[in-house]
Amino acid sequence: MPELPEVETVVRGLRKYCLNKQIKKIDVLYSKLITGDINKIINKTITDIYRRGKNIIFKFEKIYMTVHLRMEGKFFIKNHDEALAKHDHINFIFDDFDLRYNDTRKFGEIHIQDTDFVDVGVEATNITYDALRGNKPIKEILLDQHKIAGIGNIYADEICYYAKVMPNEVLKEDKYDLVIEGANKILNESIKCGGCTIRTYSYFGVEGTFQNHLMVHTLKYCKKCNTKIATTKVAGRTTYYCPKCQKNNIIIGLTGGIATGKSTVEKLLEKKGYNIIDTDLIVRDLWKDEKVLNDLKKLFNVKEISKEVVRNIIFNSEEERLKLNHYMHPLVKDIVLSRIKNGVNIIDAPLLFESKFDSICDFTICVYLDNEEAKCRLMERDNLTELEAIKRINSQMDIAKKRKLSTFSVDNSKGEAYRIKNLDEVLEKIGL
Ligand SMILES: [Zn+2]
Repeated sequence: MPELPEVETVVRGLRKYCLNKQIKKIDVLYSKLITGDINKIINKTITDIYRRGKNIIFKFEKIYMTVHLRMEGKFFIKNHDEALAKHDHINFIFDDFDLRYNDTRKFGEIHIQDTDFVDVGVEATNITYDALRGNKPIKEILLDQHKIAGIGNIYADEICYYAKVMPNEVLKEDKYDLVIEGANKILNESIKCGGCTIRTYSYFGVEGTFQNHLMVHTLKYCKKCNTKIATTKVAGRTTYYCPKCQKNNIIIGLTGGIATGKSTVEKLLEKKGYNIIDTDLIVRDLWKDEKVLNDLKKLFNVKEISKEVVRNIIFNSEEERLKLNHYMHPLVKDIVLSRIKNGVNIIDAPLLFESKFDSICDFTICVYLDNEEAKCRLMERDNLTELEAIKRINSQMDIAKKRKLSTFSVDNSKGEAYRIKNLDEVLEKIGL
């Protein structure tokens, strides 16, 4: 789909041919593209042609024609005697040439109206702080035509790359200036190049060359750092980014079974200066929160609430446990996300996979011991009977399954020296 620079290129081409000319006759071969009475523009002089977002506006005396090319809409200048091409849907006949609207997919729109109003946000070359606000990924905001007009999939990726932000990042205000600067530079530079020529279509006879200047969109390797470009989906669109240039943090999920020694490994990671986000501590704080306690009273239909009360309710009931998790996990996740910093982040989460926190992690590490050893440790540590210890262990996802789901695992059964060595090997593999 043509974006702002390509539409601007079309507008400049149209101005060259059509400005101050009159349309003498219009042949409509496919009328469904049009709203309003197209005959109203016959014998009227085109006094201006300009762009609003991705819309092309033809100004006549007291009437306007706005055109949105959508996926495949194109204009061609032809001589009167040239045969119509397949998918030529409207022929605007001027004194000395034809202007033909061609659209293979028929998604384009042509509106005849009394004003030049189009329902779009600020121009993409004039983005405001207000337009960038909103608790959504930056790419989604850049693509929202009601907020910012003119940016599509290609330039959204390029602008995120320029601003060194991840397309799925919810941006803090201190990044806005770079996004605005990037949009101005990239879009204006592309206009100078005549936009991007994608799939051999040239916009109005201009062979755009900006596709050669793209830094990330559809590229295999980053032009700056040679890292392999990664893809993901944001707002349903295929999104390209450089993991090295745009991502300024690493998120590692740390998990384990009950009494497998995860806390010991956490302490080792903390000593390395990594940002530790301990979900147990977050949960502990939530249990002191009035609103949370009130919600839980309602959820379990009890008058008095405490950890003990809930523990008894959920201990023997899978259904009740899920109820608690459905309530707690999103709260914890929001707090975790708000604590992510630049650099290395460790999310310590016993329920890493059960709560699907692994989806926000780049890597996951499982600290493991076999169940027999964990059982003995647990009995000793918490002064439990064998049966109680087994029940506690069985209440969580099996450690073998956690290991399988994790990117890496650290063996905690062979003493401190081995544990440290094993952890360092894992960190080296991650590139730390
Ligand atoms: Zn790079």
